[in-house]
Amino acid sequence: MSSFWCEALVIDGVAVTGVRLEAGADGRIARVQPGAAAEAADIRLGTVVPGFGNAHSHAFHRALRGQTHGEGGDFWLWRERMYRVAAQLDPAKYEALATAVFAEMLVSGYTAVGEFHYVHHRRGGTPYSDEHAMELALAAAARAVGIRLVLLDTVYLQGGIGQKLAPEQQAFGDGSAAGWLTRWRALRAQLAGDDLVTLGAALHSVRAVTPDAMREVLDGLPVEIPLHIHLSEQPQENADCLAAYRMTPAGLLDSLGALAPRLSVVHATHLSDDDRALLGDAGVSVVMCPTTEADLGDGIGPALALAAAGAPIALGSDQNAVIDPLLEMRGLEMGERLASHKRGRFTPAALLNAASTAGYAALGLGRHRLQVSNPCDLVEISTTSVRTVGCSVAQLPLTATASDVLRVVVGGRLVAECGLLVGGERPATLMADALARLGR
Ligand SMILES: [Zn+2]
Repeated sequence: MSSFWCEALVIDGVAVTGVRLEAGADGRIARVQPGAAAEAADIRLGTVVPGFGNAHSHAFHRALRGQTHGEGGDFWLWRERMYRVAAQLDPAKYEALATAVFAEMLVSGYTAVGEFHYVHHRRGGTPYSDEHAMELALAAAARAVGIRLVLLDTVYLQGGIGQKLAPEQQAFGDGSAAGWLTRWRALRAQLAGDDLVTLGAALHSVRAVTPDAMREVLDGLPVEIPLHIHLSEQPQENADCLAAYRMTPAGLLDSLGALAPRLSVVHATHLSDDDRALLGDAGVSVVMCPTTEADLGDGIGPALALAAAGAPIALGSDQNAVIDPLLEMRGLEMGERLASHKRGRFTPAALLNAASTAGYAALGLGRHRLQVSNPCDLVEISTTSVRTVGCSVAQLPLTATASDVLRVVVGGRLVAECGLLVGGERPATLMADALARLGR
C-alpha cells in the first residue's frame, strides 16, 4: 500500500485542497479523503492532476525528431523517411528506442500510452524465430520504465487500396486477417495477467485493410478490446476510399458496423458533416494529435464540432517529434481559435479531460477520475516555475509545459521525479544510446 497527500487535486477544473489518496496493492485507489491532514507515511505532493493518457504513439518515429522538419514536402515524403527507420529496426534496437521514448513520456506526465504498433516482422516479412519478438520488446520497454502500455497491435495487409504491400511495408503484414488474428490471440495468451501491459488492437487505415478483412477482424475480436484506426488524415485517403467504395472512410466503417464506443479514430482531420454525425452518434472516441498534425501540415480537424456531436476527444503524441501532453492540450485549443477567430473554445477543464480521462477511456483503461477503484496514476505540476508562477491553477493547461511536471505516479508507485526516472536514469541518455544503435 502507498499513500499520498495532495496540497491541491484538480478534477473538472476545480482544485480541491488537502486530499489524501491511498492506493491498494493492486495499484488502484482504495481511499480518497478530501480536506484531510497529511499523515506521517504520506508522500507529500503539490498540485496534482490525473495522469495523462497518450492515446496514439508510434515510438520509433521519435528517431526522426529534428531530422525532417526543415525539408519541405508533405505527409507522403515524410512517410518515405519513416519507412527507412522502420527498416533498421530489430527487437533489440526497437526495445532500446521504445525504452527511451517511454521514459521521456513518463517524465513528461504521460502515465499510459497506446502504442499503435505495426512493425511486426523482419524486413521482407519473415517472422522472427520468436514470432512476438517485436511486441515483447515494447512490453519490456514499458516494464523497464514503469509506464502503463496498451499495445495496439495493428492489422496492415495492403500498400494502398487495391495495392500489394510495397517492399518497405513487408515487415508490417500478416498475410491475411486470419493470420493476424492467430498471431494476436497467441500474443494475448502470452501477455495475460500483466497489470501494466495490456493488449488492444488496431486497423491501420482504410488504405491498408480491405472491407472484407476489417469485417473478419471485427468478427474475431472480443467486444471489450479497444480498437483504433487512422481515419481521414489526408484528403487523398478520402478520395481513394470514395473512388473504390463510393463511401467516405467513416461511412465505410459505419457500413461494417464498426462504429461503437470501443472504437477510436485517429486524426479525423478531413470529415464531411455526415461523417461527424456518424462518429458522434456512435460515441466513437476521436484521438487528435495536434503537434503532429501541425508538423506534417495535415490540417485542423473539427474537434469541437465532434465533441458537440457526442464524440469524446482524446490526445496523442503520434510521431513523437514533441512529447508534451500540455502542448497537445494547447495545440487542440489553439487550432480551434485560429480556425474560428474566437477564444475559449475548449475550457481548460475540457482540455485536461481530453488528456487524461478520455485518453484512458480510449485505451480501454476504464474510469480515471481519481476515485475509489480507479488507477492511482498521478502527475504533480509545478505552480512556481517561471512559466506557471502567478497562474490560476485551473488554467495550467494553457500555460504549463512538460518541463513543469515534477513527480509521476503509476499504479500507486512513484516512477519519475523532476525529469528523471526514479532509478536516476536520464531519458536523454537512454535516447542517445538508442540512436547510437541506429548508427546516429
Ligand atoms: Zn499514427
